[in-house]
Amino acid sequence: MIPAAFEYVAPTSVEEALAALAEHGDDAKIIAGGQSLLPVLRMRLNAPEWVIDLGRIESLRGVSDRGDHLAIGAMTTHHDVGQDPLVHEHALLISKAITHLADAQVRHRGTFGGALAHADPAGDLGAPALALGSTFVVQGPGGTREVAASDFFVDLFETAISDDEILTEVRVPKHAGWGAAYEKFVRIAHQWPIVAVAATVRMEGDTIAEARIGLTNMGSTPVRAEAAEQALAGVPATEEGVAAAAALAADGTNPPSDLNGDADYRRHLATVLTRRAVLAAAGRS
Ligand SMILES: Cc1cc2nc3c(=O)[nH]c(=O)nc-3n(C[C@H](O)[C@H](O)[C@H](O)COP(=O)(O)OP(=O)(O)OC[C@H]3O[C@@H](n4cnc5c(N)ncnc54)[C@H](O)[C@@H]3O)c2cc1C
Repeated sequence: MIPAAFEYVAPTSVEEALAALAEHGDDAKIIAGGQSLLPVLRMRLNAPEWVIDLGRIESLRGVSDRGDHLAIGAMTTHHDVGQDPLVHEHALLISKAITHLADAQVRHRGTFGGALAHADPAGDLGAPALALGSTFVVQGPGGTREVAASDFFVDLFETAISDDEILTEVRVPKHAGWGAAYEKFVRIAHQWPIVAVAATVRMEGDTIAEARIGLTNMGSTPVRAEAAEQALAGVPATEEGVAAAAALAADGTNPPSDLNGDADYRRHLATVLTRRAVLAAAGRS
């Protein structure tokens, strides 16, 4: 279907984009890579009068080293984030997740910030961003504020970004030397997961010293598998040791039931995928 007619503006700075948002308010919608928004417009599930395109704002693109963290510009494409050597070295979990995200065409158009702002609970970037303890930088008329990943995802397709704000950057603490793996269970290739697990571990010899685990599609937002993380600390990276901790992966989650699987099936998947992801991150598979 063809979207309803809209006015289009493509500012070249965040300030101009914020001014356009302020001027058009509820009648405006931001577009980044358009990979989620355009289907919505084409199906006429949304019909904004104004579309504000962030594509010409160069300051929102790229990955930079800021000492203890990486700063990923909101408009950096999935492809560019996935290929970035800094991301590979300091946030391997994100590189791994991106290899599973959609197809090459979508990865060249879709953006890191767009996917996180969209907040699809089945999206592949929320769990790694949460597991790594990222901070989201949001700019609005009142200036810039930082939101911890644990506060950023509010509900299904809902984040802490207000209507008059733009996500500008995601700060990811460095985890150099940590092993990482993303295990994704799909019904159809190149699509969103039924459940996925993002795991990163710091090894000391053959023992898992620390683990960080994010779960995709196990609730209305990405969630941490905290019980499993705690149980993994100090455990030898053996099949038995990891399996016992991974059995706790679904504790405290509230997964959905739909045509792809009911909540119990998803809980089972979470434990299996956590075991696989942790063993792979620890270099044991
Ligand atoms: C065929 C297909 C397969 C896909 N498969 C997967 C998959 O397997 N896994 C996966 O995770 N995703 C998948 N996607 C979605 C893809 O990752 C999108 O790129 C992503 O969801 C949205 O990013 P975008 O840059 O295209 O954002 P857009 O579609 O432009 O925007 C999405 C939403 O976020 C808002 N927004 C965008 N940027 C900002 C910002 N900087 N500040 C505030 N609000 C903002 C927009 O207003 C809109 O509401 C798929 C998409 C397609 C078309």
